[in-house]
This record gives sequence, structure tokens and C-alpha cells, in this order.
Amino acid sequence: MARAVIEAVVFDEDDEAIVVSVRPRKGAQRRCGRCGRRAPWFDRGEGRRRWRALDVGTLRVLLEADAPRVNCRVHGPTVVQVPWARHGVGHTRDFDDTVAWLATQCSKTAVVELMRVAWRTVGAIVARVSADIDARVDRLAGLRRIGIDEISYKRGHRYLTVVVDHDSGALVWAAAGRDEATLRRFFDALGTDRAAAITHVSADAADWIATVVAERCPNAIRCADAFHVVAWATDALDEVRRQAWNEARGAVDRRRAGRATGHARALKRARYALWKNPENLTDRQRAKLEWIAKTDPRLHRAYLLKEGLRLAFVLKGNPGKEALDRWISWARRCRIPAFVKLQQRIVKHRAAIDAALDSGLSNALIESTNTKIRLITRIAFGFHGPQPLIALAMLSLGSHPPELPGRN
Ligand SMILES: [Zn+2]
Repeated sequence: MARAVIEAVVFDEDDEAIVVSVRPRKGAQRRCGRCGRRAPWFDRGEGRRRWRALDVGTLRVLLEADAPRVNCRVHGPTVVQVPWARHGVGHTRDFDDTVAWLATQCSKTAVVELMRVAWRTVGAIVARVSADIDARVDRLAGLRRIGIDEISYKRGHRYLTVVVDHDSGALVWAAAGRDEATLRRFFDALGTDRAAAITHVSADAADWIATVVAERCPNAIRCADAFHVVAWATDALDEVRRQAWNEARGAVDRRRAGRATGHARALKRARYALWKNPENLTDRQRAKLEWIAKTDPRLHRAYLLKEGLRLAFVLKGNPGKEALDRWISWARRCRIPAFVKLQQRIVKHRAAIDAALDSGLSNALIESTNTKIRLITRIAFGFHGPQPLIALAMLSLGSHPPELPGRN
């Protein structure tokens, strides 16, 4: 509040708030609220206005001031710029910045209860704080190795395209949509020179990503994300598990016996044991796997195939490629259709997968960014449209997190 003068402080009984009357310092130039250009006085506007400020203890605080209009050369009659708030906003800058910081640090409930604002308002605040940061910083500077991914939100009906920087680990760009036009907007923002400086692009095998990358940065090495390739194997394994479960259940219908019911149920519950990496298994899950090995050799083979593929990405480099060669010849002969098909898909994308094994790009980064954005999409439920969701993701995972006001 360095550039404002406090005229009076009163307690408003009706609003149950401390009302602080302020005015800009004497000699402060009148500027357009939208563009900041100096502009001559126009009229008194709608008279005095109030802005919600940070609480004092448990009491709400409102700033009150005249809000005259100036006549901007570009924008015409516009409410004058005030030093304590963003243009056209009912909260002070400090209030907004505090809410944005909290939104990246604590739960939805904590932000809403502590700051006494609606969740939808938090969405609007996050969007304008993020837009402010975007106007100041260049998130696309110095990119060399990037990852491109798509994330579903709104229960899979809508998608975001996201770009991460493999070197800094930061989320650098996100937009609603998952198609060539959306991704071209990223390369438009990046520009030709900076696109030419990109050496590696990792992505899942989506054709629309490959098309745009080939067109906009043809010299970059295209790598498959290990995370996505292992996810294909998990899907194939799940297909085999569901088949086994359906067969076991079918056996019940035929025999109407209790024995097979138990078998079907156990298979259904084996899902997590099959999905998890062996080193993360609990004792019970380990026992479940041993049970599968004894009772359903085919499903167990599918499990070993999934693990074998994952191992290639753990090994990386030449040992990874050799492991992948062995895996392909094993999967080709495995007589499990889901894995024979997966093997064909892997062969088709072999060049991109080998590039991933060579580049050593962190699979963990894509996976953790993916997981964190997914979590944010759930938190952002209730925001208005995709923009606040993107803003919260940029503030939380980008290179420039929001700062608490008044700290150095
Ligand atoms: Zn203006």
C-alpha cells in the first residue's frame, strides 16, 4: 500500500467489516485501468467502490475509494488504475495473490474456509494471477527437450494438451483440446527459431502429435514415453485378466457350483497385485500372485510379459534394447492375443521406443506430471471452464509459482 494514503478507518456494522478509506498518493498520475497509459480525467464513474482486502484477525477488511474514469486514447472512458487492485476486480491484489498461493498449497476446503470465498471465485482469481505471471515471464525460453501429453478432464469428455520441459521438470504450456490445431498453437507461440533448437520430443504414439512434431520441428528426435508404453502393457494384461474372470464366471453358470465363484472373485480382486511393480507389492498381493501362478498359468504369463517390458525401460540404453529384442520374440510366440497385438504395436513404434531408451529422458517426470495434473483436474472441478484449471496447473507445476505478498 506504499502508493496509497489512508483517510479513515471505520467499522461497518451492516457489513461486519473494517472499512478503510484510501486514495492514491498526491501527484500519482491518472492512468487507464486496462493499459496503464496516462490519461486525462473523464468523469466520476460510479462513485465510490469497495475491494475485499486481507482479513485482520477474524474481521473482514474492505478498502473504499473513489473510482473515477479517465479517457484513454485507446480504450476510451475507463475506470482509473488503482495501485491496490487489478483492473475490474473486487479483491485487492494482495488478497488475490494470497488465494492463488493457498490454492497451490492446500486443499480446496482449506482455501474456501480460510479465505471465505466461493470455489468458483478461487478459479477466477487463479486465472488472473496466472495471466499476470504469463505477461511477465517467458515460459518457453531455452527449451531443448520437451514432452507432449494429453490429459482427460471432466470424466474423459474433454482433454488438455500439455507440454513439459524435461530439463527443468516444469509444465511450460497447456491448452484445451487434443488435436493438430491445438498443438500447432504451441509451436506458433514457440516460433521457428526456438522450435529448431528443440532436440528431443517425447510423446505417446498419438498420430496427431507425430504429424505436428514432424511438421514444426523435423530435426528433433521423437521418443516414445516409457510411461505410455508400459500403460499399453497394463491394458493388455487387464484384458487377459478380464477374460480369465469371465471364463471363471461362465464356469459358475454352467456348473452352478460355489467353487468357481471363489475363483472368479479372487481374479477380480487380483487386479492391483497384477498392476503394481513387484517391488511395491504387499505380502498379501505377493501371495495373490503366487496363487495366480498356480491356478492360471496363462494370466501369470501375461503378468510376466508386462513386467518384462517394464524391465527394458528400467535398463535403458543398449541393455534395454537387447531386453526389448528378447521381449518381442517372446511376445510373438506367447499365444495370448492381447500381447501378440501389443508386440506388433511395439514393433511399429520401435524407432521412437529405441530413441526413448537411448535418450534416458525421465519417464518419472512425465508420469508424475501426468498424475499431478490429473489430481488438479479433480480439484478444479467446479471451476468455470478449462481456463482456471490450466491456470492452477501452471501455478502449481510451472517454473513460476505464485508468491505470498509482503515477503522478500
Ligand atoms: Zn487504455
